[in-house]
Amino acid sequence: MSDCQSGCYKGACLAKVGDSCSNNSSTIYASSDNECYLDCKSGKFSTTATCGHLKVDAYSNKAYWEVYQSLKEIPENIANVNNVYIYASWHPDLQEGDTLITSGVAMSNGINVKPIVIAGGYSSDKDTVVHEYFHLWGGQNYRLYPDWAPFSMIVAMPAALTQVFFGSTDVATPRSYVKLLDYYPEKFTEYNSLDNKFHYNNNPVIGYGNLDPSMIGIGEDFANSAAWYVNEACQLKSNSPTRYDYFKSEVFEGKEYLSSGGCN
Ligand SMILES: [Zn+2]
Repeated sequence: MSDCQSGCYKGACLAKVGDSCSNNSSTIYASSDNECYLDCKSGKFSTTATCGHLKVDAYSNKAYWEVYQSLKEIPENIANVNNVYIYASWHPDLQEGDTLITSGVAMSNGINVKPIVIAGGYSSDKDTVVHEYFHLWGGQNYRLYPDWAPFSMIVAMPAALTQVFFGSTDVATPRSYVKLLDYYPEKFTEYNSLDNKFHYNNNPVIGYGNLDPSMIGIGEDFANSAAWYVNEACQLKSNSPTRYDYFKSEVFEGKEYLSSGGCN
């Protein structure tokens, strides 16, 4: 790739913002406002489904590319999240390309008007972007209180405590998913604590962190199951058909990511 003056990444040329699209390149472009991933083919730009729906602020073209590349197969209806931003960078302590940092900020239109960080990942795992994205997607209509908490208690709650409630439960998860799995916390101490215990009629299968399935809050279960639906479809299908079918029909509108050879 001798024409890749800005370098290459994972087999693709990287352009700078504002570079033009040439006939013989398969260069990855960012639009000037960084809101679209632009694919250059035969001298013409095309955009992905997330264009216009998702704002990505990336601190390098590689991070930008990684986010859009990870999300480019996501159907447009899923990409249609209002007021959602994904920030992406590379971990400064690591060699380039090792670790993608993503975080998302959803602007609450609920009882708390401050922006709230609801997603942040530090990983070189290909699932990270999809995982973080689905925290945002699941939370686009989120409330800052869970189903089981009385509303009057929540409105009187100091901001720090809303974080406890937010972290503990299901606020960034579709109601239908919470109901499907009959989810509720049996014991909650703090976010991702080993002392937590959550009730499911069908335990998480996605191996989040080093937590036992019953310690995984449904927000993480939802985000990681979504990432599996896209990247480890066969595993999700065989390990939790309930979740697989939910994502297929309720989230992805029938679109599937099973390998063409089928699952073993
Ligand atoms: Zn997460």
